[in-house]
Amino acid sequence: MLVFSSIVALSVLFVQVLLFVPAAITQYQGSVQSMYATEQAKLSQALSITNNESLEFSAPLLNDALVGLVVLDSDQQLLLEMGETLGYELNAAEQQGSESIKSLKMELQTSTGSVTALGFFDTSRLWVASKSFVIFLMLVSLLVSVVAGLCSGWATIRYFISPVDSLTSSLRGSRESSEGQTPEPIDVDANEDLKLIAEEFNALIEEQRKSSRQVKVKQQYLEFAAHHDPLTHLPNRLMFENALNATVEDAISRNVQFAVFLVDLDNFKFFNDQYGHLVGDKMVAEVGNRLRTMMRDVDVVARLDGDEFVVIQKDVQDPSSAEEVAKRIMTVAASPYEYRGFTLKAAVSVGISNFPTDVHVSQDEKMLGEEIVNNAAVALQEAKSNGKNQYQLFTEKMRSKLTARIRLEQDLKLALQDKQFEVFYQPKINIHTRQCTGSEALVRWRHPVNGFVSPEAFVPVAEETGIIIELGEWILQTACNRTYELQQKGYENLNVAVNISAVQFTDGNLLPMVARTLEESNLKAGSLELEITESAVMHDPEEVISSLHELSKFGMRLAIDDFGTGYSSLAYLKRFPVNTLKIDRAFITDISSDNDDVAIVEAVLGLGKHFNMKVVAEGVEDEEQLNFLKSQGCDIAQGYFISKPLNSEQYLAWLERWPYGVQTSDSQAESQSLDEDIRKTGT
Ligand code: C2E
Ligand code: MG
Ligand code: MG
Repeated sequence: MLVFSSIVALSVLFVQVLLFVPAAITQYQGSVQSMYATEQAKLSQALSITNNESLEFSAPLLNDALVGLVVLDSDQQLLLEMGETLGYELNAAEQQGSESIKSLKMELQTSTGSVTALGFFDTSRLWVASKSFVIFLMLVSLLVSVVAGLCSGWATIRYFISPVDSLTSSLRGSRESSEGQTPEPIDVDANEDLKLIAEEFNALIEEQRKSSRQVKVKQQYLEFAAHHDPLTHLPNRLMFENALNATVEDAISRNVQFAVFLVDLDNFKFFNDQYGHLVGDKMVAEVGNRLRTMMRDVDVVARLDGDEFVVIQKDVQDPSSAEEVAKRIMTVAASPYEYRGFTLKAAVSVGISNFPTDVHVSQDEKMLGEEIVNNAAVALQEAKSNGKNQYQLFTEKMRSKLTARIRLEQDLKLALQDKQFEVFYQPKINIHTRQCTGSEALVRWRHPVNGFVSPEAFVPVAEETGIIIELGEWILQTACNRTYELQQKGYENLNVAVNISAVQFTDGNLLPMVARTLEESNLKAGSLELEITESAVMHDPEEVISSLHELSKFGMRLAIDDFGTGYSSLAYLKRFPVNTLKIDRAFITDISSDNDDVAIVEAVLGLGKHFNMKVVAEGVEDEEQLNFLKSQGCDIAQGYFISKPLNSEQYLAWLERWPYGVQTSDSQAESQSLDEDIRKTGT
């Protein structure tokens, strides 16, 4: 502002100086002219009335202006010399530095004729007057400039600084009152002088408000998306964990109870595979919606994973009421769904854990939420392994079961590296000749601490963890190598049956693995039989049928194990390229006392004959069973009556001891023709 005012003042001063200096010069020159004219008139008058000879004047001629006078006649003869004439040489006067003395030549008329008068004028007085005049003007212009500067300063303050200041304060005020949010529009009327700028500001503020509203909507959406599941719009795992921790804190501070339910759809994979993912998604969304509607607003319903939901029931008065809620959850989830012409029915398993009953309240508060969900997961696992479509309340026993299971998993991983497995061989005999036809390879685990672990206990775990792939390959290699060795020892027609898990079947690597193993062991494909359980076959019959066809083409034999327990569809049986049916030992055990079992065994034998398959009876424990099977035309028997599973040395010793010997090529051919006869005659 000061700079601006100074500039204005200086500019005004400059303009005035530009105007006043020529005026002063003109005025000075005018004064000199008028002085000359006055003096000339005075002289002219004085000379005209004087006597030319004496040149005497009544009045003094010299004054402040005319300081010297020289009068010459027409012949240039000096008639008069008065005052400062400086030797009446003007140039000399100038040379002497008397700048203020100026000379003027005048032709004057006297009564006797014309004379030349040379007047010497002192202009210093005029010069001083002019200088004073200039100084006066300068002072006036200085004053005018100062006034102009002050006026411009005042105008700047009044019309610019003060409105801008008030605009700025309006903006600041609106910003402060907006508490960090987008400022409110400012009051345009209050900023009359800068109305246009204020309106411009308001337009900018409005734009800013609009874009921050959009940002806010975006933020809200992102916030929602970060904490909610897109399919069901229920809280996701992150939000659930926060809600759970808050529930734990609240329950501790108010000393109240709550229950956590883990809800998992049963056979959801089947729904997805059968009806497609769209239907599966619809079902998940529907279950989520029903759970949300069923629970109170204070409760929490969240989706954790694909088909897994979690519910927190708050302020539970009585832990047994959780069971009622679980029943309701199951009923609500199970009522049918209509979707695109499908009527779907879901079933759920529920695991329940109560707070604080099921947790170690002494532990870190932050861990309590995690513990209660883990407990509910343990209970859910129990519900699933007990056959699904049920709820289970968490118990400590379940936890120890789970811990044991986890330990088993860990030990299994080490067992393979530490060579804790061994393959045993259970001999099989031709029922008619009683000659040994070969054996079934059965894996054994000698646990360094727990001793012998049954394959029934660890094979399912090995299947779930995928260890069975590596383990199965090792079993096959060991069995093939040993059988080839025994064949080399003279038991050339000995074959071996190896159990193949459903996991190995669906792995997609079975055929190359078996082919490689046969090649490495030198065993002929015809000496190997692969056993797959009936339940595994029926799990995904179409896929198994194509795998079985590939294996069969390769030359090895295929058997359906535990036949009669897995609800085989006879329509499928026709399409299975299998050579052998193994009747499950459960039907053999009571064969002498249970007529139903007799009927089943007869039916299986009938099927075997019909489809041209050999039938092996498992679990033959006495002579009576063996004779019955023989009378029914069963081909092969396996069981404790013949031998328990033996390690490889024991197996060799058994072969050497077995009184009926091992089948030879001749007896094999004989037996085959006998089989055919029996099939033809039916006896
Ligand atoms: P499986 O394949 O049906 O094997 C027959 C089971 O019955 C064997 O049990 C055998 O020891 C037992 N057994 C045989 N004869 C008799 C008898 O007269 N009386 C009684 N009470 N039992 C008899 P093990 O070895 O405990 O195997 C159980 C199951 O574990 C097998 O049933 C099979 O499903 C699975 N398994 C065993 N070894 C392997 C293997 O190497 N790989 C795979 N994937 N599974 C195996
Ligand atoms: Mg078997
Ligand atoms: Mg079996």
